[in-house]
Amino acid sequence: MNAYTRAALPPSLYADTARPPVATPPLDGDRRASVCVIGAGFTGMSAALHLAAQGTDVVVLERNEPGWGASGRNGGQVNPGLKWDPDTVEADFGPELGRRMVAMAWDAPNVVFDIVARHQIECEASQAGTLRAAFQGNNVAEIRAAFEQGARRDMPVEFLDGPAMRTAMGTDRYLCALLDKRGGHVNPLGYARGMAQAAQQLGVTIHGGTPADKIWREGTSWKVATPSGTVTADRLVIGTNGYTDDLWPKLRRSVVPVYSGIAASEPVPDDVAREIFPLRGSIYELGKITTYYRLDRWNRVLMGGRCRQTDISEPSDVQWMVDYARRLWPQLAPYKWTHGWSGQLAVTPDHYPHIHEPAPGVLVCVAYNGRGVAMSTAMGPQLARRTLGGTAAEIDMPITDLKEIPFHALWKTAVSARVLYGRIRDYLHI
Ligand SMILES: Cc1cc2nc3c(=O)[nH]c(=O)nc-3n(C[C@H](O)[C@H](O)[C@H](O)COP(=O)(O)OP(=O)(O)OC[C@H]3O[C@@H](n4cnc5c(N)ncnc54)[C@H](O)[C@@H]3O)c2cc1C
Repeated sequence: MNAYTRAALPPSLYADTARPPVATPPLDGDRRASVCVIGAGFTGMSAALHLAAQGTDVVVLERNEPGWGASGRNGGQVNPGLKWDPDTVEADFGPELGRRMVAMAWDAPNVVFDIVARHQIECEASQAGTLRAAFQGNNVAEIRAAFEQGARRDMPVEFLDGPAMRTAMGTDRYLCALLDKRGGHVNPLGYARGMAQAAQQLGVTIHGGTPADKIWREGTSWKVATPSGTVTADRLVIGTNGYTDDLWPKLRRSVVPVYSGIAASEPVPDDVAREIFPLRGSIYELGKITTYYRLDRWNRVLMGGRCRQTDISEPSDVQWMVDYARRLWPQLAPYKWTHGWSGQLAVTPDHYPHIHEPAPGVLVCVAYNGRGVAMSTAMGPQLARRTLGGTAAEIDMPITDLKEIPFHALWKTAVSARVLYGRIRDYLHI
């Protein structure tokens, strides 16, 4: 009997528009698998998909349903790269690992669009590019440097100056931007559900409504207890990100969960869409507060950024974003805003994603620092390789020690305190 009732999918535009979910009945009894994956967001689903593609027997345990976490609620922006520019990554990790990290992270959108194409996932996918834009003079040099570093590495990048941005964006706000043509966007809940279906077709069993409550070693296996049964597995992959609980010691306090919020408008007419965002890619702004936005396939405007550190459910909960959109494009004034929602992502003080191996056969991958759509998907093949016996040196990301953030409780309190919020964001550069 299942003693846990899964939480409903929170209201969002995607909850109303994404393709239907797959059936994910709760675990019922005790079973064995080669690999048990915990968490069915992009990290868990991509790992499961790539493991199953190599014939591995995988069971996924998800507290609620695939895409319930950040993966089904995000801005849908499939953005290349890490927080830091390529030169910094190579300086931080050395020319060999650094170069592989750059290649993997900046090509990550191609992994997403390949999965969508290979499994014919209905998720409004569009590889129309990602713009990283500056509206303040002090960010122009950063954009130019990022462009030069990308061009030196033969990346498909362009530098757009102010007039080019006017043409791409229908607004005078921007001084310049870096366009990376690998980026784009998806309906993220549709993508998560499509990945779940693809994984099931490859033989993965996904148990929704099944929280992993406890993990322990039993002989050479790992045992995972849930309210409705146990899974015994040779290996574990944990991908719980901003929803990490106390399942694995220290993990919850190794990341800071941060809410981000989104407002979505009703569809605007084609001629208005052509005026306001002719490029139709994804854009995020540099600055103290990161604002990100895009148009979806149906000409809805999706504006994302800072919000209260709680679940929200109305566009008025993020009214500043609605006001901002109307300032960017006054022609949006007559159109209604229909949805507002939020979710939690995980950030780390070093702004890098974290892979840990806290015990033999246990892999953890968390903290994409706001860039998880492409990165978490691209981590799937990496996690699969290591899980199936690849050496740590073969992974294109360092496997590091799991460490708690000192004064973690204070970080959480600070993030929740509105007055400190801007300063924390400054510090975290998110
Ligand atoms: C509002 C918002 C906007 C964002 N916009 C963008 C964007 O436009 N572009 C971008 O690149 N990134 C964006 N992000 C970040 C991105 O969504 C995340 O980095 C990414 O989805 C992380 O995927 P994940 O699978 O690691 O975690 P999640 O999708 O959060 O999944 C974790 C899952 O683990 C489950 N879980 C937790 N504990 C347990 C347990 N004990 N047992 C079983 N299951 C458990 C949860 O229920 C959840 O489903 C955004 C995030 C948010 C919240």
